[in-house]
Amino acid sequence: MRHLTTCLLLAGALAAGGRAALQESGEDLCGDCHSTGKVPHAHDSALLELEKDAIFCSCFMDQDPEALGMDWIVCPDCRTPSAQARARSEFEMEYGRRKSWLEERRAKVDKHAGEEVLHIKTRHFVIAWDIPKVKVDHQVLKAHEAMHLYARRMEDLYRVIQEVHGIGETAMHTGVYHLYLFESQKVAERVGGYVLDGIGGGGAKSLIGPNSAHLRWWRKEDLPDDERFHQALAHSVSHLIHNDIDQFNEWLAVRYGWAYEGLAHFIEIRLFGPPITWCHQETGGFEHWKGKDWEANVKKAVLAGTQPAFQEIITKASDVLTPMEHQFSWSYIDYLMWLDPKKMPRLLGLMKGPQLPVRDALQQAYGLTVGQFVDGWEEFVRTEYSIKPVKGPRPRAPRAGG
Ligand SMILES: [Zn+2]
Ligand SMILES: [Zn+2]
Ligand SMILES: [Zn+2]
Repeated sequence: MRHLTTCLLLAGALAAGGRAALQESGEDLCGDCHSTGKVPHAHDSALLELEKDAIFCSCFMDQDPEALGMDWIVCPDCRTPSAQARARSEFEMEYGRRKSWLEERRAKVDKHAGEEVLHIKTRHFVIAWDIPKVKVDHQVLKAHEAMHLYARRMEDLYRVIQEVHGIGETAMHTGVYHLYLFESQKVAERVGGYVLDGIGGGGAKSLIGPNSAHLRWWRKEDLPDDERFHQALAHSVSHLIHNDIDQFNEWLAVRYGWAYEGLAHFIEIRLFGPPITWCHQETGGFEHWKGKDWEANVKKAVLAGTQPAFQEIITKASDVLTPMEHQFSWSYIDYLMWLDPKKMPRLLGLMKGPQLPVRDALQQAYGLTVGQFVDGWEEFVRTEYSIKPVKGPRPRAPRAGG
């Protein structure tokens, strides 16, 4: 609003100074719009606060058929016809852009859902939301507010992943991720059959690559509350983001299952606490090898000399990793992120682009042989890990000077 006010004052000052700023010669000045052709179109301040991080929101547009959420309209009784005409053409272009986005969303999602779905677009996410309410702490949020909350959380996740690797927008292959979030399995199936070729058996399905997408319905038996739904979603969406770093020919999941799942667990432990999910849950269901404290479990194994061989774990696809192997996969990533998180994007690029063998990718990105990696990782586990259980999120700062 402040920006518009400044423009209006400037236009007024120019006109008052006798220089025909916006009106053509012979035209009158317009007192309503100061000959800008635009007049303010007010919105409720609480609604504006909710909308401030959104580029488009279907609710906001639906509540404002006149301007689809824009903060100005064309001066209706303008005395400066040329300014009015310029404003009208600008308005029609912006209005058309918003309307076609909404129509594209409705054709892609609502039509297949068989009901009205909410939609939001933020800088990096396009989210279809069909969850009527969410209880967050002790407050029940209705669909519209809940959708904005999750959009903010997803943008936060994106920012954290960029920050921990020390990267910016240019490091990302696409920087855009589509999410489809439903309460009902039936509706998810209808939409999933169209946008993702089904929904899988675990309540969620992802498409990874240049058109990254994740679809999930809220399976309450696995994820009974907002906190766990958020964590599971962050795990899945972190896959989309990690696979989007640097170049992309193939996703990590098949040839580098340890890195694929290890990175997602790294995010869970850093932001939430003990992991609660992995992909391919339909193949067995999530379980903790030796309990929830992964750091303690890995340390005890290393101290006892019973840790599995790195060379064996790195040959596995993500869907065949055992519960024990998930914990070690996480720990390998935890070590590399501690050693030098800025080298991780290159490691991921070498895996997803030319798909180098792990030993070559480690050598080129981190300058480590497999032997050096294993020795360094064991030393890291012995010195940095604690066997005392810790609750809640567990961020780890990179090595000093690393
Ligand atoms: Zn909104
Ligand atoms: Zn006017
Ligand atoms: Zn996963």
